[in-house]
Amino acid sequence: MLVTLKEVLADARANCYAVPAFDCAEDIMVRTILRTCEAERAPVIMMALELDLETDDGNGWVYHTALIRAVADHHNVPIVLHLDHATELDTIRKALGLGFTSVMIDGSRLPFEENVRLTKSAVDLAEPLGASVEAELGFVGGMDLEETQSAENVLTEPDEVTRFVEQTGVDALAVSIGTSHGVYRALPDLNIEKLKELNAVSPVPLVLHGGSGTPEEQIRDAVHNGICKVNLYADLRVAMYGALKTTVTAHERIDPLPRDLFQPMRKELAAVVRQKIELLGAKDQAR
Ligand SMILES: [Zn+2]
Repeated sequence: MLVTLKEVLADARANCYAVPAFDCAEDIMVRTILRTCEAERAPVIMMALELDLETDDGNGWVYHTALIRAVADHHNVPIVLHLDHATELDTIRKALGLGFTSVMIDGSRLPFEENVRLTKSAVDLAEPLGASVEAELGFVGGMDLEETQSAENVLTEPDEVTRFVEQTGVDALAVSIGTSHGVYRALPDLNIEKLKELNAVSPVPLVLHGGSGTPEEQIRDAVHNGICKVNLYADLRVAMYGALKTTVTAHERIDPLPRDLFQPMRKELAAVVRQKIELLGAKDQAR
């Protein structure tokens, strides 16, 4: 069933686990992730990035949203339809109009007061529709998805957290404690002491971006100390690409059936999803 981010994260915070948040595009990802989460009895956050929704035919937004909304009730686990990393209010408006139950407004590149203003405006749009809002304070760097630019992390400062949440009314806060977006060149070293301070003062559940490639014991430590949502994308892409390469060389015939073409990809993707559910303690947490 379709629910809001606020609902699933409240349960995660109360029961000390994190909800897996997967960026996804294409039917194959949507189906595999939902089927696996249902089998594991895990709540899930189905995230979409503007970059993946803006397809050449202009229908990406509608296809993706309509698919998840149509199938959500066929899966007996909580499902959040979440927009990841929007930087413009127009994108937030578009997502809310299409029925997203949660949006992230990312003003993390802006000075504090401007981030507050932008985030508050997003909350004003989402609140009347019953949708949740995630914001980011501090800055999670790394390489962008098109690999055009990389940026350094700016760690979140605990003394800004309470002020930010009070002034904006956000439901969840992405914090910067040492992870980066994309595939790591050098392994991260999470600042768990900083996370403890942030969690102690934050009125809302905390979110970790750049979860892919982070060593498992660091993720476990982060979840144990207050992270309630972990964003994942690169690990899924790596798994699918590996499966695709195997598939390409595996077939003798020139016209393999679609199920044979995509089965290895589904299998590898499901394995990663299962492993993340386990790692975050989300197995059997669907209520
Ligand atoms: Zn992110």
